[in-house]
Amino acid sequence: MQEAGIAEFRQRLRGPVIEPGDPGYDEARALYNGMIDKRPRLIARCVDVADVIEAVNFARESKLLLAIRGGGHNGPGLGSCDDGLVIDLSAMKGVRVDPQSRAVRVGPGCTQGDVDHACSAFGLAVPAGIVSTTGIAGLTLGGGTGYLTRKHGLTIDSLLEADVVLADGRFVTASADQNADLFWALRGGGGNFGVVTSFLFRAHPAGMIYGGPMFWGLEDARQVMQWYRQFLPKAPLDLGVFVGIKTVPSAEPFPREIWGKKIVALIGAYNGGAAEGEQAFAPIRKELPKAILDWVGPMPFTALQSLFDPLMPKGLQWYWKGAYVEELPDQAIDVHLAYAAEAPSELSLMHLYPIDGAVHHVGKDETAWSCRDATWSMVIAAIDPDPAKADALKRWGRAYWDAVSPYTTGGGYVNFMMGDEGDARIKATYGGNLDRLTEIKRKYDPGNLFRVNQNIKP
Ligand SMILES: Cc1cc2nc3c(=O)[nH]c(=O)nc-3n(C[C@H](O)[C@H](O)[C@H](O)COP(=O)(O)OP(=O)(O)OC[C@H]3O[C@@H](n4cnc5c(N)ncnc54)[C@H](O)[C@@H]3O)c2cc1C
Repeated sequence: MQEAGIAEFRQRLRGPVIEPGDPGYDEARALYNGMIDKRPRLIARCVDVADVIEAVNFARESKLLLAIRGGGHNGPGLGSCDDGLVIDLSAMKGVRVDPQSRAVRVGPGCTQGDVDHACSAFGLAVPAGIVSTTGIAGLTLGGGTGYLTRKHGLTIDSLLEADVVLADGRFVTASADQNADLFWALRGGGGNFGVVTSFLFRAHPAGMIYGGPMFWGLEDARQVMQWYRQFLPKAPLDLGVFVGIKTVPSAEPFPREIWGKKIVALIGAYNGGAAEGEQAFAPIRKELPKAILDWVGPMPFTALQSLFDPLMPKGLQWYWKGAYVEELPDQAIDVHLAYAAEAPSELSLMHLYPIDGAVHHVGKDETAWSCRDATWSMVIAAIDPDPAKADALKRWGRAYWDAVSPYTTGGGYVNFMMGDEGDARIKATYGGNLDRLTEIKRKYDPGNLFRVNQNIKP
């Protein structure tokens, strides 16, 4: 690439363009997943839509590989690339909440925590993820699940509008009334169609909640999981609770006597008052053995949303596998227990996030995200701070996923996939919506400029 071209590009942007050798390059290229190490040729830290248009045009005209970075949390590091241009949106923050209409305008560099914080002043929340450092952009475009999903649906089900810079540099707005095909595709189709420069969401009431984690020893795991699978369909939709198999971290504030103990956990929230919350959690406390840890109680929604942050700082090694699950038969529980016993590290986990309730009230073909008859989104995550453990993490994650696959739908949440999943998984994930997605990709990005993602080929 010509230095003169880069110098000119730099001048046309308000935000900085960071190159190898520049101070701050290593910090700017670092991703959340320490297992992924990418060295982009240029990082354009855009500050506004004009910068994004310049960067998209520059990448296309220079035939540079292009990656879009929101929060940089993606498992396989699809917010970056080797030798190409990264459009880094992290400086494009800003949340405007209209408390009357409950419409929330969100910049593409916002994290989950930015949105939660801004909404909390009005006792509101946008239904999204459960860890505050996650980027809201990537999370939304893949679907978005969290504690409020059972009542209010996926994050995309609360998306009203998005501003997008297309592959040819045009700026458009996508909503139910404008560019409706693009709006359909953005809701689950990931970063395949353009750079989203602004999101407009509908928020929902969420102030104080009644929630937190409950743990039981692994010896009770079968009973807890069997009970949970019966309980969930009857539970009030305001109760968002997931089941996980984990290890108690050997760290404060957990009681020392259970440090390092393998456990099954129910973690969730009742979105409402303490009295109703206590009632919603009562069957869990009454019908299951006494929990070895019960930290469920009233707390601000934002406190629950940042509960896991200290355990998951940036830079750990992560290997993920995800799948959608319709039922949890005893044979699947056996597989979970067998792999729990062999977990390669304290942080490694399996979670089953409910995607029932309001998610099922939207038709399979109403948005690109199509797995609306699943009950859970499963994630297996092998996690450790030590890079020397990377191979062991991958081995466990892959073997676990292979063993449990017969009990999954074949498709998986694009936000819980690694980079090595292949076209067959994309097909299984989008099912009957793939043809329409391909058509829309052909219309908006025929040259596949946006291909650093779980790619829908034009
Ligand atoms: C600790 C942790 C907790 C998580 N918890 C949840 C959870 O509770 N619920 C949930 O649903 N998911 C969760 N996830 C998964 C998360 O949704 C994905 O990692 C997602 O990719 C993160 O988005 P990002 O913007 O941070 O990612 P990035 O790495 O910045 O980007 C990811 C992908 O999105 C595309 N993209 C990003 N921004 C834009 C944009 N503005 N326009 C177009 N394309 C864009 C990129 O091209 C890339 O392909 C979690 C992940 C982690 C690591």
